[in-house]
Amino acid sequence: MGLRTVSAAEIREQVIGAIGEICCRPTPETADLLRAALNREKDELARDMLQSILLNHQIAAEEALPLCQDTGLLVVFAELGSELLITGGILPEIISAAAASAWQKFYLRDSIAPDPLRGKTLLPPEAKPGSSAARATSGLPFILHLDQVAGNRLTLHLALKGGGAENCGALQMFNPGASLGEIEDFIVRTVVEAGGKPCPPVFVGVGIGGDFESCAILAKRALLLPPHNEPDLQRMERRLLDRINLRGHGVMGCAGSTTALRVSILTRPCHIASLPVAVNIDCHAHRVTSRVI
Ligand code: SF4
Repeated sequence: MGLRTVSAAEIREQVIGAIGEICCRPTPETADLLRAALNREKDELARDMLQSILLNHQIAAEEALPLCQDTGLLVVFAELGSELLITGGILPEIISAAAASAWQKFYLRDSIAPDPLRGKTLLPPEAKPGSSAARATSGLPFILHLDQVAGNRLTLHLALKGGGAENCGALQMFNPGASLGEIEDFIVRTVVEAGGKPCPPVFVGVGIGGDFESCAILAKRALLLPPHNEPDLQRMERRLLDRINLRGHGVMGCAGSTTALRVSILTRPCHIASLPVAVNIDCHAHRVTSRVI
């Protein structure tokens, strides 16, 4: 393996293509899980809503229309090979500019508030930061988690994350003596109490370990990465999925026994005095994809 170069233009095209793919088309896994849920579901209202979700997915893919009016916040986990040289720009600016172009190209809703406090501050009216026109040149705000890895490739895991689902996440700093039952109760409770707000059926990402902020990132990473092969965690994921679907409020928080489609857990080492646990929820639109460049 030797040193490689990749141009900003190539990364830009890949990011625009990835956003175009996920804004209008569910992942094959999402479609399979929704169809399997429809086959299992007994409640008539829940079945009707699942059929509507599948029809919406089909129309969006056929007509290249966004899966949802909330076109989301772009979140990117990037793994940059130590033997890869990017020419013509730096990664955050390349992705930001690509996102701005994609938002215009695919007519995506302008969903980012440049000032999180909005009208609660005394911004002069003429400031008007972040209009669509301005972003075409200055780039779109997005979230980047950047890791350096061995090799000469750049791997990008991308998601368009809706606000409704994102708002339902939670983090708890457990006492290290907490039982597995207490941890699982917290995860189940977080999803059940979210009700219809994250547009169920949902995908549930769980982070266990690390520290306060890395645990939350781990929970989101669990939503984007391919499944792992750790048997203990797989058993815990299945147990949590069953418990959520037993206690949850069902499709769109209204009916049936399909509240979640998948639970994914990632863990990492943590301080002996800590046991952080975070839950990040994604809706049935679940707009995620990966690119290796
Ligand atoms: S949570 Fe998902 S499906 Fe619901 S409004 Fe937001 S993006 Fe759309």
